[in-house]
Amino acid sequence: MTDRHGKVQTVTGLCDPAALGPTLMHEHLFIDLNPPAFRGDVLPEGVTDEEVDLCNCFRARYGQGHYTDNYRIEDFAVVRAEVEEMARAGGGAIVDLTVGGLGPRPLLLRQMAEETGVQIVMGAGHYVEEYQLAETAAMSVAELTGQMTGQLLDGAWGTDVKAGIIGEIGCQSPWTDREKKVMEAAVETQKATGAALNVHPGRAATQPQEVADFVQARGGRMDRLILSHIDRTIFDEDTLFRLADTGAIIEYDLFGWESSYYWPNPDIDLPNDALRIHWLRKLADRGHLDQILISHDVCTKGRLERFGGHGFQHIFANTVPLMLRRGFTQAEVDRILVETPARLLTLV
Ligand SMILES: [Zn+2]
Repeated sequence: MTDRHGKVQTVTGLCDPAALGPTLMHEHLFIDLNPPAFRGDVLPEGVTDEEVDLCNCFRARYGQGHYTDNYRIEDFAVVRAEVEEMARAGGGAIVDLTVGGLGPRPLLLRQMAEETGVQIVMGAGHYVEEYQLAETAAMSVAELTGQMTGQLLDGAWGTDVKAGIIGEIGCQSPWTDREKKVMEAAVETQKATGAALNVHPGRAATQPQEVADFVQARGGRMDRLILSHIDRTIFDEDTLFRLADTGAIIEYDLFGWESSYYWPNPDIDLPNDALRIHWLRKLADRGHLDQILISHDVCTKGRLERFGGHGFQHIFANTVPLMLRRGFTQAEVDRILVETPARLLTLV
C-alpha cells in the first residue's frame, strides 16, 4: 500500500510536494455558482439566462443584474486554454475547491491535469447551507465525517478521483446549525486524513475568528486551517492580527477582482490588488509571512480571459511583479506561492 503521508494527493495520484511549484490555493476550474433557485427554467426577476459575451461581460462581472451563464464554468476547451496560459506565466499547480452544492467535476479535473501537466488538487466536503445537497440535512456528524474521509481515501462524487484537501467548507453570518455540523465533520476528517482544511467564512468581520475558535475547541490544527476571502471580510488591524495570532492561515484570494463594488455584500468596499498587497505587507512585517496565501477564486465566466477577465495567469503575470515593486523580495513571494502551499497540501 502506498503511504500518502508526506505526499500531496492530486487528482492523478500522489506526488512529491516539491513537484507543485507556484500554486494557486483557491480556484474553481468548473463550477455552478448559481443558487439552486436560479437553476430551473423559471427565473426570478432581475435574473437572465442571456449568454455572457464581450458586449455584456462588464455588467455580468460587476453584478449589474444576475446572468446565470456567468455563474457557470463548464467548457473544457475554454478552461484548458486558461490553465495553459497560467502554466506559461509560471504557475505549476491549482487547488480546485468546488465542493458539494457547487457541481464538482472530478473526472474533468483529472483529464485537465493529464492534458496540461498542471498539478491539480481537489477539495472535499460541502459549501454553504443554501447550496448544500438535500442529503446533508439528515446526515449526522459521523456520517458526514465518513463521507468526507471517503472522498480523500477512496474517491469523490461517484468516481475514484481522490480529494487532497478539505473545503471550501461553507459558513455564513449568522452561522447555521447545519453548517456547524459539516464543520465539525471537517475537523474530524482533518484528524483522520492529515489534510488541510479550507473554510469559506461568513461575511461578518468576526466570523473567521468564530470559525477559528470553533476548530480550536474541537482539537483541530490551527496551522492547517485556511481562512479564505479575508480581503472581503476584515478591514481593521485588531481583528486581523487577533486572527493571525491563532496561527491560522490567512488567505487573500480575490486577486484580480478590482471593482470596489462587491455584489455579494454591497455594504463593503472591496480592496483592489494594491491594497491587498498592503495588507500582506502588514502581516509579513508582524511575523506572519508563513501564514499567508494568495489566489483568485475564479468562480464566474467574467473572470476568465475568454470573457474579458484576468484568468488564472494574473497572479503570476501581474501580481508578483507588483509585489516585487512594492518591496517584497522574491524569497518572500516564494514562501507565499510555493513553500506554504506545499506545506499545507502535504498530508501529515
Ligand atoms: Zn471558492
